[in-house]
Amino acid sequence: MTCPSCDHTQASLWTRCHDRLRNVSLSNHAYYTCQKCKLVYLHPLTTNKHYAEFYDSAYISHQSPIYNQTISSKASVAALWRTQIWQYILDVPMGLPRRISVINKVWLFCLSKTRLFRHTPLKAYGCGHRILDVGCGAGSFLFLLKSLGWKTSGLEPSTAMVKNGYKFDLHIKQGINIADHWEQPTFDAVVLNQVFEHLEDPDTTLKEIYNATKENGILVMNFPNIQSVAAQLFRSYWFNLDAPRHNLFPSKKTLTNLLKQTGWEPHLIYTASSTKGWTGSIEYILRDAIDLPIKQGSVRSCRWLNLAFIPIVRVLDWTHLGDNLYVIAKKTSL
Ligand SMILES: [Zn+2]
Repeated sequence: MTCPSCDHTQASLWTRCHDRLRNVSLSNHAYYTCQKCKLVYLHPLTTNKHYAEFYDSAYISHQSPIYNQTISSKASVAALWRTQIWQYILDVPMGLPRRISVINKVWLFCLSKTRLFRHTPLKAYGCGHRILDVGCGAGSFLFLLKSLGWKTSGLEPSTAMVKNGYKFDLHIKQGINIADHWEQPTFDAVVLNQVFEHLEDPDTTLKEIYNATKENGILVMNFPNIQSVAAQLFRSYWFNLDAPRHNLFPSKKTLTNLLKQTGWEPHLIYTASSTKGWTGSIEYILRDAIDLPIKQGSVRSCRWLNLAFIPIVRVLDWTHLGDNLYVIAKKTSL
């Protein structure tokens, strides 16, 4: 076998498991750790050929986006604060001049920790900047960004999802390769929201994003954290493993090296996780290991159980051991 990132051929088994989420693949899938770069990868990789087989209309990013009053009202709240928030969220981490007062920074910091802003710093940025959402699914995130003033573009392999975007006046191109549509520096920011783990060739994708991003542009990614307590504890029962749809799980070090090799300087790495990583994993154990007759989603959607896990997930996120890793990187001059 060959590592999809560094081409090294030696690897050790991380875990084996079947498709516990959708049950559309009946095979047993194996994940290996590359002995050289420590990337955990699925072997054999899931490729474009499997797309129709493994990603059905019930797949989470293909479900109808929430184009309703809830988002509009959240967006209007956000709009009130967007100018100051984008200065805070982007200026401070990016080391740009600080143009707002200390009191405002404290207030905006508190605001950024609220449900609305916590998971997505980009929600607050906008003001005419151009953004590309790679693997945008039904386009919910693009819709929200657009309402915050971004000039948005999306890239998505599913024909149905691209058509869906047209209904809401979203500019979504169909495909997988960024270079097929954007070769010149076009975007101020590129986002990969739960997409990196699906890639087949991460180096090429990061290079293509580099070429499509303007000088000083930023890359924002989030994906399952293989070094999290939940991943290490639950292994084949880890909800975010999601075999066979998830191909790659880089450690922080693997990702940092990969970003540097492709022209990106990692700027901020942290975890912001959902309780579903825990409740979903517990559901798999109860159903598949203990063999209880549990309905799909019943445990991971249990409100009280999810509430009970909030303190654990918060503590893990403070220590960067949560199971959803965020990475903000800045384009460097090669
Ligand atoms: Zn490797």
